[in-house]
Amino acid sequence: MADSVQHSGRCLCGTVNYRALGLRDVWFCHCTQCRKVTGHYLAACRTERERFDISGAISWSGHSGTSQLGRCARCASPLFWQQPGSPTLSVLAGSLDHAAGLDPLGHAFVGEKGDYYAIADGLPQFTGTPTGGF
Ligand SMILES: [Zn+2]
Ligand SMILES: [Zn+2]
Repeated sequence: MADSVQHSGRCLCGTVNYRALGLRDVWFCHCTQCRKVTGHYLAACRTERERFDISGAISWSGHSGTSQLGRCARCASPLFWQQPGSPTLSVLAGSLDHAAGLDPLGHAFVGEKGDYYAIADGLPQFTGTPTGGF
């Protein structure tokens, strides 16, 4: 997609707002940690940190390994995922105002998916981390 496309999003209460350029690569993650924090599974896309413009207080907590999940400090909506040291920051797709131009690439960690749902969208599925990372 065009690198200049801007996406925006916010938490439920509106305290945290963000804009981002160049968002790409929507991945679904079915790992145990993502299932616990979202109540189902996680959909996230990413871009370089410097291409985000974020306002509002974020509360970071440990997620899996060294990664962290960022929530609105007021309403606790899950909004961001990061691996400290990575040049990219991921945003949870459900917080986007619109997802124009963002296509899902596939499913990660299906080896840990819940047994109460099926994945039937035909996208690639990976037992763990997708080839090439996400
Ligand atoms: Zn909020
Ligand atoms: Zn996950």
